[in-house]
Amino acid sequence: MLLIQELKEAFGPDSIRTGSDIPMRNRADASGAASVCPLALILPRTTQEVSLALALANAHGCPVVPQGGMTGLVGGATPGAGELALSLERMNGVEEVDVVSGTITALAGTPLQVVQDAAEAAGFLLGIDLGARGTCTIGGNVATNAGGNQVLRYGMTRANLRGIEAVLADGRIVRSMNKMMKNNTGYDWTQLLVGSEGTLGIVTRVTLALHPRPPVIASALVKVTDTEAALALLRDLGRRLPGGLMVFEAMWDEFYSIATGKMGLAAPLEADKSVFLLIEAAEAGDAALQEVLGECLAAGAILDAVISQSEATRRRLWALRESVYEHARYFPPAVGFDISIPLDRIAAAVQALRTRIASAFPDAAWVVFGHLADSNLHVNIMAEPAGPATRKTAESVVYGVVSDFGGSVSAEHGIGRAKVPFLHLSRSAPELGLMAEIKTMMDPKGILSPGRIFKAP
Ligand SMILES: Cc1cc2nc3c(=O)[nH]c(=O)nc-3n(C[C@H](O)[C@H](O)[C@H](O)COP(=O)(O)OP(=O)(O)OC[C@H]3O[C@@H](n4cnc5c(N)ncnc54)[C@H](O)[C@@H]3O)c2cc1C
Repeated sequence: MLLIQELKEAFGPDSIRTGSDIPMRNRADASGAASVCPLALILPRTTQEVSLALALANAHGCPVVPQGGMTGLVGGATPGAGELALSLERMNGVEEVDVVSGTITALAGTPLQVVQDAAEAAGFLLGIDLGARGTCTIGGNVATNAGGNQVLRYGMTRANLRGIEAVLADGRIVRSMNKMMKNNTGYDWTQLLVGSEGTLGIVTRVTLALHPRPPVIASALVKVTDTEAALALLRDLGRRLPGGLMVFEAMWDEFYSIATGKMGLAAPLEADKSVFLLIEAAEAGDAALQEVLGECLAAGAILDAVISQSEATRRRLWALRESVYEHARYFPPAVGFDISIPLDRIAAAVQALRTRIASAFPDAAWVVFGHLADSNLHVNIMAEPAGPATRKTAESVVYGVVSDFGGSVSAEHGIGRAKVPFLHLSRSAPELGLMAEIKTMMDPKGILSPGRIFKAP
């Protein structure tokens, strides 16, 4: 094919792979979507090479899908058969930590954890953290507007972005490596790329705001009677803890029972029909958190609590929350959901979810958990037989609740391919029309990640 020949001539064979030379990891993301061998894999080393690749692909009208760490959960980075996959894996490295501006600049293919470590080594904290930190890339985090564990205090990736460099569909390089907190100079096009999932441009470099590293972080596992009690505690702790809450993760009882039962993790609190909360507070020491939780216990606002007294106990508490990543070893493949529901309706929505899932899947294991303070619920249904019929029933149950309670079909994972049929449940026709116009304006030939977010034309 002429395009592949042109790419090989421009880049050399080491940077353009085809057929069996394309590693398995570039054929599917973490969504469980079937692996697909792309037309070719492009491995650029510089922004100029990304630009050259897109200019050639655009001239030939050939679709391109950018790839980061391939940890996405909605099939966005999984290539299509006739598509070029462009992996940012060689564009890896922290370029600058600016301690005066409080910013960090890194190439898009840098793993999140590497960026976190560099921030920490300079005495700062990166406000972005998620379970896939070791593998996901900072460019992928920007492209998906990743959320994660500290959104309550630092916001989603969007809120942490200061500057960006990207390559547009026709190969043009656009750059605003802004470090300033204030910069109101016309439209903020940089924010358009955040959460665009590779459909508007390829992110090549980012500058992120850094935060002062809290001198202490206190952690606790808390048990409350129900979702309403969890929300009341959220409000109360937000008011009473100096420095405020950083983490407020909820595990409803099915989740906690699986972790401490079938999976055999130590149970710091007895498993029963309660809601279990993993809480972290910045700047409040263990003693301050203990005092506030002691008062909550005395007032009957919580049922029980353990405060972590060491890094080892803190890790054990997190192991409970992150046990979900090991469910595949114990259960059939999960149909997973990432939804959000307004906080004032979330308690009723959780109740509806649990009742409707139990009724639709009486013999299956399922769990509800998530970043409760961010209105974000994750639901995993592990039913047999795994396949399209089970998926369809699960989607109708969960998205039925989303519709009934005015929620969103994607809280933090994006739309990718998996959620294209459901986008209209969360966005009105005028909004969808505006999105389509932006897409056409920025990528007139539709070469960037076709079939993601929108139906393929
Ligand atoms: C164990 C686990 C835990 C997770 N926890 C969370 C969580 O708490 N919160 C959360 O939000 N997500 C979570 N995720 C999902 C995933 O990690 C995030 O979506 C992450 O931001 C994806 O980064 P990535 O580099 O792996 O991107 P990829 O999976 O490679 O790509 C994701 C999307 O972004 C596009 N893309 C990638 N790089 C670029 C680029 N440089 N320019 C333009 N487009 C690009 C791709 O085309 C694709 O559409 C989790 C996933 C796993 C496996």
